[in-house]
Amino acid sequence: MIHKSKLRSENRGIGMTSQGTRDRLVQTLRSEGIRDERVLNAITRVPRHEFVDEALSSRAYENTALPIGLSQTISQPWIVARMTEAILDGGKPEKVLEVGTGSGYQAAILSHLVPKVFTVERIDELLKLARRRFHRLRLNNIFVRYADGQLGWPGQAPFDGIMITAAAQAIPTDLLEQLAIGGLLVMPIERDGQQRLITVRRTEDGFEEKDLGGVVFVPLLSGLA
Ligand code: SAH
Repeated sequence: MIHKSKLRSENRGIGMTSQGTRDRLVQTLRSEGIRDERVLNAITRVPRHEFVDEALSSRAYENTALPIGLSQTISQPWIVARMTEAILDGGKPEKVLEVGTGSGYQAAILSHLVPKVFTVERIDELLKLARRRFHRLRLNNIFVRYADGQLGWPGQAPFDGIMITAAAQAIPTDLLEQLAIGGLLVMPIERDGQQRLITVRRTEDGFEEKDLGGVVFVPLLSGLA
C-alpha cells in the first residue's frame, strides 16, 4: 500500500526536485569533467526547477536543455557548468555580463560566484519571467536590461567576463571593446557549418582565442522582440 502523504508529495513533484536529485546531477557533471568545486556548489544551490515551466519541473535535474517558450531553451546543465568554469578560469571576476538571459538560470548560477552580474535579453516576455525569478530567490546582485546584447552594456563596462549564451556568426566587436584588460569572453560561434565554444582573452597587446569544443545553441539574433 502506498502511504497517503508519499502519494501527495509525489504528485507535487517534490521527489523529483529534491536535494538528492540535485546531488545526482552534480555527480553526473563531475564525472563528465567539471572540476571547479565552486561551480558544482552553485549548481547544488540553484533550484533549476524554478526556471522551467511547472509541467517540466520533474525533468529539471536531467542533464538536458529544455524548452522555455518563444523557441528558446534553458541550456543543458553541463554547458552552463562548463561556461561558468571557463569564465571563472580559476580566478575571481568582479563583474560579469551575460548576453541572452533566457530563463535566468545561468545568471542565477553566476550570482553565487560573482559579486555583480549584468544580463541582457532581447525577448521582453522572457526577461519579465526571469526578473520575477531573481526577485523570488532574492538574487539581488543580478541587474537586467531589455536590449540587443550584441551592443553590450556600455554604461557598466568594462567587464572582467562576458558570456554569450546564443550562437553568433562573428565575435561582436562592441563586446570585445567592453572587456577589461585580462578579461575573458566565452561564446558559441558558427564556423564551417558547426558551432564551437570559444574563449577570447583581452591582453595588453590584443586578443587571444581558444577553442573549447563543439556545442549546440539557439542563434544570437539582432533587434528586440
Ligand atoms: N542563458 C539562458 C539560455 C537562453 S537561450 C538560460 O540560462 O536559460 C539564449 C537566449 O539568448 C534566448 O533567450 C534569446 O532570446 C537570447 N538572445 C538571442 N539573441 C540575443 C541578443 N542579440 N541580445 C540578447 N539576447 C539574445
